[in-house]
Amino acid sequence: MIKLVIFDADETLWASYGYWVSLLVPPLKRINDSEIVDSEGKKITLFNGLRELLKTLKDRGILISLVSLNDSEPNRVMECLEIFGLDHYFTYPQINWGDKGQNIKRVLELLQKNDGKIVNCDEVIFVDDHMSNINKATKVCPGIVALHIGSDISKVTEIINFL
Ligand SMILES: [Mg+2]
Repeated sequence: MIKLVIFDADETLWASYGYWVSLLVPPLKRINDSEIVDSEGKKITLFNGLRELLKTLKDRGILISLVSLNDSEPNRVMECLEIFGLDHYFTYPQINWGDKGQNIKRVLELLQKNDGKIVNCDEVIFVDDHMSNINKATKVCPGIVALHIGSDISKVTEIINFL
């Protein structure tokens, strides 16, 4: 049974049009329910159905986290999630340039250490648009349900079929 879903950020939660959110230049402004624009006109667009997906996961009692290759300081990933009003969904998000496999392991360790929640690798879905991250996840966390957007699924909302 899946107990935890770990999302990538750029091109998984939102379209970021070839750059990563660390490159956004403040101030960031929410222009509608699904779009943020920076001071230079660069934009990110939340994927359709993402809000509903997060709510469904939470309603089903499934934990949600995030690992993202981006600067940890300033943390534009969390800033964007806050602007969208979605930051509260994510437990122990790991935003840094480290190995995503190690960052997934860190999320599991924090859940156990701080909350007494034991989650095994085969109870985790990890979703990312880069195959290199999928490979790192399966290496560090054998049995993890690592879904590649582009081959395993075509859009993030399809993870619902793997719960
Ligand atoms: Mg990505």
